[in-house]
Amino acid sequence: MNAAPLPPIPFLDLKAQQARLGPALRARLDAVLEHGHYILGPEVAELEAKLASFCGAAHCVTVSSGTDALQIALMAEQIGPGDAVFLPAFTYTATAEVPLLLGATPVFVDVDPQTFQTDLASLQARLEAVKAAGRLRPRALIGVDLFGQPADWPALRAFAARAGLFTLDDCAQSFGAALHGEKLGRAADATATSFFPSKPLGAYGDGGALFTESAERAALYRSLRTHGEGTTRYEVLRIGMNGRLDTMQAAVLLAKLDIFPAEIERREEIAKFYDSALADLLTIPARVPNSQSAWAIYSVLLPDTARRDQAKAALAAANIGHAVYYPRALHQQPAYAACHDGVSLPVAESLGGRILALPIHPDLTDAQAARVVATLRAALGA
Ligand SMILES: *Cc1c(COP(=O)(O)O)cnc(C)c1O
Repeated sequence: MNAAPLPPIPFLDLKAQQARLGPALRARLDAVLEHGHYILGPEVAELEAKLASFCGAAHCVTVSSGTDALQIALMAEQIGPGDAVFLPAFTYTATAEVPLLLGATPVFVDVDPQTFQTDLASLQARLEAVKAAGRLRPRALIGVDLFGQPADWPALRAFAARAGLFTLDDCAQSFGAALHGEKLGRAADATATSFFPSKPLGAYGDGGALFTESAERAALYRSLRTHGEGTTRYEVLRIGMNGRLDTMQAAVLLAKLDIFPAEIERREEIAKFYDSALADLLTIPARVPNSQSAWAIYSVLLPDTARRDQAKAALAAANIGHAVYYPRALHQQPAYAACHDGVSLPVAESLGGRILALPIHPDLTDAQAARVVATLRAALGA
């Protein structure tokens, strides 16, 4: 009865990761303090080269955040008022916020009930609706690689080619993931990722990157991230942003990139353990065929909201980190009501009541993962 309470299991454990990084991290930070080039220092160029070679992309341009990466990519295409940007309704707000900031209109698309990725039939229907209404020009498709898994890029690309749309991969949650043996980074015309601390490859602050096969686009991204500058610092060619990744964050990311492949393997191990220990109890994450997930998030589905909330309460009582991504679809959020045409997107609308994310960070021990499983089994009566 009086057993000492078990220690908490964090949803993310950056302290444990820092210990695992050891002196390599301090050496990287000390090097920056020594040379003092805090903006666009040598670590930024080194990181860009390493990230590009990591995912096989021709060009990498680091930026200040994943959100700014999306914005710079759309600014480079001059997307603005009157333009329709298709994107899934079940994603983080940044995906839809950026088109609106530029004056364009997000067109929300439903997602697949198994993989939670963009649904092709819904995408087709939404394109036809935009064409029939005749108010907006279809311009771009933002495909989101949700929770660490790739979207169906061959299908999205083929769709975009038929419709004449620019493709932007919102890879904020899935850098390091692969589809048909190819790492994400060149699945779309441009790929945006985030180094927010909780993403698979996270900095100690905000950061992001853009990848593209096009030298012209890469040059535009470099200009746009520094106030639209030209070949000299005080030549202003276009309206841009203060959108650079700082050197300290690049140094952190260089240290973390060395252990990143091993971290993805560890996340995969934990996912497989959860799969085998929970598949009879709830719906484990369906895999996108022929893919490798970066496992940003391991989300299970419960049969209904009552049982989801029961599982959630049990995890909370046992001091186990957990989260709900996302309680509400974007088109149901107050901020997006005015730009949505009122069409129902039933899958995106239903997931929020049944979904639950379990801890899957690389420092989660086997014993901790077993405790997560035991807590869920006890709570759900199995
Ligand atoms: C985190 C995230 C972003 C934004 O990245 P930041 O670096 O936080 O700006 C964009 N899209 C998705 C899907 C995300 O999960």
